[in-house]
Amino acid sequence: MKTKKKFLRVAVSTPLRRTFDYLPDDDTEINTPQPGIRVSVPFGKRKNVFGLIISVNSKSEYPFHKLKKINYLIDKKPIIDIKHLDLLIWASNYYHHPIGEVIHNALPALLRKNEYKKKYEDNFWSLSKKKLSSNTHTIKISPAQKDIINYLKKCNQSISEIELYKIFPRSKRSLISLEKNGLIQKESGEHVEVLKKSIKKNVTLNNHQNDAVNSIVASLKTNSVFLLDGLTGSGKTEVYMTVMKSVIESNKQCLVLLPEIGLTPQIIKRFKNRFNVPIGIQHSGLSDIERLKHWQDAKTGKTKIILGTRSAIWTPLKNPGIYIIDEEHDLSYKQQSGFQYSARDLLVVRAKRDNVPALLGSATPSLETIFNANKNRYIHLILPTRAGAAKPPKFQLLDISGKKMYGPLSKILIDEIKNHLKAKNQVLLFLNRRGYSTHIYCHHCGWRAECERCEIPFTYHKSNNTLKCHQCGTSKKNIKNCASCKSELLRLGHGTEQIEEVLLTQFPKSNIARIDRDTTRKKNTMDNYLDKINTGKIDILVGTQMIAKGHHFPNVTLTAIVDADRGLFSTDFRASERLAQLFMQVSGRTGRGEKEGTVIVQTYNPSHPLFHSLIKNGYNYLSKSLLEERESSLLPPYSYMAFLRVEAHNVNQVKYFIKNAGMQLKQLSKNTLQLFGPIPALIEKHSGRFRYQLIIQASNRNNLHAYLDEWLQKLEKMKGSKTVRWSLDIDPQDMS
Ligand code: ADP
Ligand code: ZN
Ligand code: ZN
Repeated sequence: MKTKKKFLRVAVSTPLRRTFDYLPDDDTEINTPQPGIRVSVPFGKRKNVFGLIISVNSKSEYPFHKLKKINYLIDKKPIIDIKHLDLLIWASNYYHHPIGEVIHNALPALLRKNEYKKKYEDNFWSLSKKKLSSNTHTIKISPAQKDIINYLKKCNQSISEIELYKIFPRSKRSLISLEKNGLIQKESGEHVEVLKKSIKKNVTLNNHQNDAVNSIVASLKTNSVFLLDGLTGSGKTEVYMTVMKSVIESNKQCLVLLPEIGLTPQIIKRFKNRFNVPIGIQHSGLSDIERLKHWQDAKTGKTKIILGTRSAIWTPLKNPGIYIIDEEHDLSYKQQSGFQYSARDLLVVRAKRDNVPALLGSATPSLETIFNANKNRYIHLILPTRAGAAKPPKFQLLDISGKKMYGPLSKILIDEIKNHLKAKNQVLLFLNRRGYSTHIYCHHCGWRAECERCEIPFTYHKSNNTLKCHQCGTSKKNIKNCASCKSELLRLGHGTEQIEEVLLTQFPKSNIARIDRDTTRKKNTMDNYLDKINTGKIDILVGTQMIAKGHHFPNVTLTAIVDADRGLFSTDFRASERLAQLFMQVSGRTGRGEKEGTVIVQTYNPSHPLFHSLIKNGYNYLSKSLLEERESSLLPPYSYMAFLRVEAHNVNQVKYFIKNAGMQLKQLSKNTLQLFGPIPALIEKHSGRFRYQLIIQASNRNNLHAYLDEWLQKLEKMKGSKTVRWSLDIDPQDMS
């Protein structure tokens, strides 16, 4: 009997928006190709490219003689199940992004390699149990080997090889020779984690927290979406953890997404102290092998909690019970380049598909989420008060026009800082700009020190006497004199370095710390700072948005927003929303303990309605009026948006391509879509590339997506499509 022909539809990582059909190799009788199995295939000129089987079909739209055979199957069994594969395909369709690249994005690096990789196994090392004969004294061991032995002695249990490599880098040879000498022994394979016995007691939830927990727990078998709307410090994390306890008791898993700078060792510790179950971590700081291990442990169901940043949304789960996202409005959930997805939106979609609840928490929910709650698509839960004894902070708008200033700090603010320090409290100063001064220019002829590649001002960094472009990273030695007329240059605008300098002269006896990307480049420095703050070793803390979010500083009673005006006059339609969110997040750092907090806002625009609305009526009230503005101008969430972003070194090529692209879409959609532009991006030039965007808006989502599909097919073939860089951004989050 003739066996039926099989065609393998394979996704390969390429910018082309399509899949490729292959024939099975001759081994198919032994190894059955299935969706989710990785394959090695010949692709174009390359002989050996990694791909993933999307489906196995009995027909192909391509002529038989044109099809090539795969080289071989990489796996015996699928590495992801159909459900997870379907999610990736859904994302590829929704974001109109090539499926091969979506898969590439979603798999741990070690699985994207085209090599036969068995299930990842770690080794576990411990001291040898065999009674060592007396002649072991004659065995020579190096100091490095001795260190390993002492460490294992101290731990008194077996230690994973990965852990050992972290403490003793490049110790492979030492381990082997110690094993040869019978001093240590190895077990391979699954290791049962030694769990801590003492688990921190839960706090007693207040009524609001209890209500929230009850309503979520009652819906664990549904696919309801919850918005947990509560000030910073109102106890949202406690609500997450209580709900998670129920989920874990029914032997299901919890995926918890945190913002990029929110996933600190402190928060991981908080979860580990509370739960007696294996916890997996997913973020970009992990080594490839750790990432793979956590990925696999989530897939097999071994880890019950997975904490991660944006990319953790791609972690496969064996038995999902709830999807949680903290600070859902945070911009770090949107991938801004390449595959431009929103982990927040995917989380809601994924929860629906898995038929489990999604829980979105925030002190300052995005307007989209508030909109969905208003429409009763999401269940709105509110925590109106701060948990425990903490009270909401007092705001003070400080008009600094004409006031005595010490660099960026007004005398009034300095005096206020003194009072708080005298009362043995801590102070936090926020300025979202690192470096010393932000503009260097010639008063005589008007010349400015600018990055040629981006045409934006250089920032002066005093600590290493350089000029830096904060956009492309170009750095050069500082100059004192004008390049054009040789006059001495002026420096304007303030950064965190300058605040630190002013503080050092004003408060010589205080301990001052600056936290920004310049001071926290080395691993663990951020955590050291956080520890020092929490143990009272720092009196004044200066920082950028790295300190704005998530951290809990119980002894900070004064927070100052040094320059509140930045962002007030941006043309991005989301600017007010973002400014209000940042404002609330920063002020949320203060008075989180038992002492009352104050927020001082330095501004030249004290009568700006945004400040007044925010301070007088709070974020929720402001968000209502912002939503009204969006509605009247038909902006998202009252319409659906996509950007075509185009960039190239040659500005004419950019304009040519984007103009033609726009015309094509206009024709295709018979004017049912609204097009704006081409307009220059907010960051008009970056690293020598000119950047433009076409704004596409529609009142109906399906309508938008249907046309985009057709349009993209045309764009791929359009003249210039290979000379400019272009990408489509669905539900864009900023105009930069
Ligand atoms: P959020 O996530 O909303 O910022 P957290 O859950 O982190 O708030 O709570 C802030 C602080 O208040 C934490 O130290 C937490 O342990 C404490 N806390 C939360 N809920 C309670 C409660 N019901 N009683 C006492 N302390 C609480
Ligand atoms: Zn630059
Ligand atoms: Zn000059």
